[in-house]
Amino acid sequence: MLSRLNAEELASLEYEAKCAESRAKVPPKEREKWLNQRLAEQVQFAYQNAPAIKENFDKAGVSPSEIRTLKDLEKLPVTTKDELARLQQANPPFGGFLAVPVNSLSRIYVSPGPIYDAWGLERVKSVVRGFLMAGWPKPGDVVLVSTAYHMVPAGLFLTDALDMLGCTVVPAGIGQTELQVKLLHDLKATALFSFPSFTMTILKKAEEMGYDVRKDFNLKYTTGGGERHIQILRKTFEENYGLIVADGYGTADLGSVAYDCGLGQGYHYADEDCVIEIVDPDTGRQVGPLEVGEVVVTLFSQVYPLVRFGSGDLASYTDEPCPCGRTAPRITRILGMVGEHIRVKGMFVHLKELDEAMSKFPEVSKYQMVLRLEEHRDRITLNLEVEPGVDREALSEAVTKRCQEVFKLKMDKIEFLAKGTLPEDYQKFVDTRWG
Ligand SMILES: [Zn+2]
Repeated sequence: MLSRLNAEELASLEYEAKCAESRAKVPPKEREKWLNQRLAEQVQFAYQNAPAIKENFDKAGVSPSEIRTLKDLEKLPVTTKDELARLQQANPPFGGFLAVPVNSLSRIYVSPGPIYDAWGLERVKSVVRGFLMAGWPKPGDVVLVSTAYHMVPAGLFLTDALDMLGCTVVPAGIGQTELQVKLLHDLKATALFSFPSFTMTILKKAEEMGYDVRKDFNLKYTTGGGERHIQILRKTFEENYGLIVADGYGTADLGSVAYDCGLGQGYHYADEDCVIEIVDPDTGRQVGPLEVGEVVVTLFSQVYPLVRFGSGDLASYTDEPCPCGRTAPRITRILGMVGEHIRVKGMFVHLKELDEAMSKFPEVSKYQMVLRLEEHRDRITLNLEVEPGVDREALSEAVTKRCQEVFKLKMDKIEFLAKGTLPEDYQKFVDTRWG
């Protein structure tokens, strides 16, 4: 457990949050100038302290002093998620991207890939600053954290930040919906941190159990993030349950890099923490407003200074003024994924992992993971082409177990297809959720 901030530390972080708040509203030209300056300093730091970054610059024939503006970043290659996984495996644990000794990190998380995620105090503090900027949760809030605690950052990084701020945390994790309802009620939790689809499941269960969420619970706040259909659920949370919803965009490798200002009009780039570009995945060039590209992030980090890291998410952005007065552009929507991985139920699955899971089953000739949105939830169907005469029930059970072992996700349905159903050039991932 990270220790709580003392009064002085809290005051200093509150001051930082205030400064960040006013900096977020400076005119665009001034913002650009400030960001360019920070970027120039950051790439110098990254070049000098992270060997893999130095190698990237040297290979591209670019000196860090040539990066003076956001546009200059185009001179550098984008490091994809798949490349990061490969580099980390060649040179574990962080592939030369870490700028501090490994044992100075407070947490090392493991994301599917596997990719090791470096989380230092710096990142947790930035989450606390985000809480302070949002105005909630506050010291004294009782927060039910209903996201996974196992290997991935989701549960523990929130707990770390809430601990620091002085909240009381209930580390509920995922599953056991009825118990979650009881915890919310008995412990008078004021906030529920979860993926929105699970929040919805908990709220529905509470009603089934005869509770009136507004009257019987003390719940005021909840979170979004990680899921595409948050906008639909957000309205339900606000209108039907009177909840305040905080929403942001981030990944396990990057932390939180963009946030919703509360108006639900997209995710403002988090200028304090990073520079965001939306780029053409084929050319690495920045695209214009409302054009589709990959979210590419350069972190302002003294710990894990990733430069031009491709998140794998496809999105578009707008620089139209936001009624909130903040001048940072906004990611308008996440539109899908690039590369050999998908994000489902708040987790990543690499194609490689699917291949690895299925390599144990020679009786399966082709396999395909199909993702759908059903009501408010992600659903996974695994299609299997099998030889005739296979014991389907036994195979189904073995495959389900194996998938859970390899990428920690439960298949909602396993469908058997006759041999030859899938064409030669079939896709192993089919995502129907983005239509
Ligand atoms: Zn705004």
